[in-house]
Amino acid sequence: MKDDAFEALTVETLPARLSAIPEIATRVGGAPSGWKVREVGDGNLNLVFIVEGAKETVIVKQALPYVRLVGDSWPLPLKRSFFEYHALTRQQARAPGTVPALHYFDETQALIVMEFLSPHIILRRALIEGRQLPKIGRDLGLFMARTLFRGSDLSMKASERKADLALFADNVELCDITENLVFSDPYFEAPMNRHTPGLDGLVKELRADRDLKVAAQRMKHAFATRAETLVHGDLHSGSVMVTDDETKVIDPEFAFYGPMAFDVGMLLANYWMAYFAQRGHEGDESRNAMRAYLLGVVDETWHVFRDEFARLWRTERNGILYQAALYEDQDDGLAAEQALNHVIHDLWTDMLGFAGIEMHRRILGLAHNADFEEIADETLHATCEAAALKFGRHVTVNRNTIQSLAELDALAQALD
Ligand code: ADP
Ligand code: MG
Ligand code: MG
Ligand code: MG
Repeated sequence: MKDDAFEALTVETLPARLSAIPEIATRVGGAPSGWKVREVGDGNLNLVFIVEGAKETVIVKQALPYVRLVGDSWPLPLKRSFFEYHALTRQQARAPGTVPALHYFDETQALIVMEFLSPHIILRRALIEGRQLPKIGRDLGLFMARTLFRGSDLSMKASERKADLALFADNVELCDITENLVFSDPYFEAPMNRHTPGLDGLVKELRADRDLKVAAQRMKHAFATRAETLVHGDLHSGSVMVTDDETKVIDPEFAFYGPMAFDVGMLLANYWMAYFAQRGHEGDESRNAMRAYLLGVVDETWHVFRDEFARLWRTERNGILYQAALYEDQDDGLAAEQALNHVIHDLWTDMLGFAGIEMHRRILGLAHNADFEEIADETLHATCEAAALKFGRHVTVNRNTIQSLAELDALAQALD
């Protein structure tokens, strides 16, 4: 199978094709004709199969040469699978246990065989259902601090980082999706946009908002040019699978070297959107406890991220930046702490800038969130989205002067 030309798998062809790979056949176990195969991909881009054999159940994820959501009118290269595989190996090394175990990768067939996470469910689904996961704030704060710090010039050998930067620089088409769909399309009448009809007035206002349009392009400028670290690139609540005890990150096909705070901003934006969607899922049973939980998760995620980043700064700062030779080695630990404060301040500001834009693109652009989409009542749907749009505008435009999350809790409560 390895040297054959690319061919998309189907439920029918998968057993015969994958049983030709000895390590997969052995792992899954039993006669391939007895394997149970289901296609479960619910994402926008790729095929995902669950393959259940006599011994083990595995996930087979295969890229298609086009965007699944749109069809073959929108080609997208298979090499995204290569970037996903390599990002997973780095995340596994930098934050052990946070991603599914990898079993096999075939570059030509653009397929990754990995651990089947079970009984995990997608975090976005859990939040819509009103489930309070006790560990996500801590687990994802640590995941981000470790992957983002350890993939940067704060930690890596310069030659290794530059080689990795070159490797991921080829993920051009997926970066292009973010550059257009996230940072530009929401702010003008781009062809693939859509929004809830009740939002027309607010949308017009936002697209005429000079401060917002300048801020959005400042953030795009940072995204496209500031190659600080290997970011996940698509770290929303649909890229996290959870149980009460375990948090796993999946789907890093958008990985590239970008600004450190991009993942943090995207993830927190998805918590804030989950917050603004609660009214739409409320029914007779109050979601107030869920609202408080979500603001608490934002707070915990940020603080765990910041504290772990600071810990790594103090214990693993072995790269070419802010060298100990200038600071600690001269008995000037205070200088290292001052520099850390500046870096964390920049992360905070960027996080806010990226977060607001992520909220806008999920309501005004092509890819919408189930959090809002599943609110059946159109007026309520628009009401929830309007609050999120206003919140997003505020955080992006005022990112340099916002002082604390408490200030944003108050804003969220006032808009909700
Ligand atoms: P896409 O890139 O198309 O968005 P994802 O990697 O997000 O694909 O996977 C799509 C869906 O497949 C996920 O939402 C999840 O339900 C399921 N899935 C993906 N990877 C796993 C896994 N390792 N274990 C269990 N389910 C998975
Ligand atoms: Mg996905
Ligand atoms: Mg994906
Ligand atoms: Mg919508």
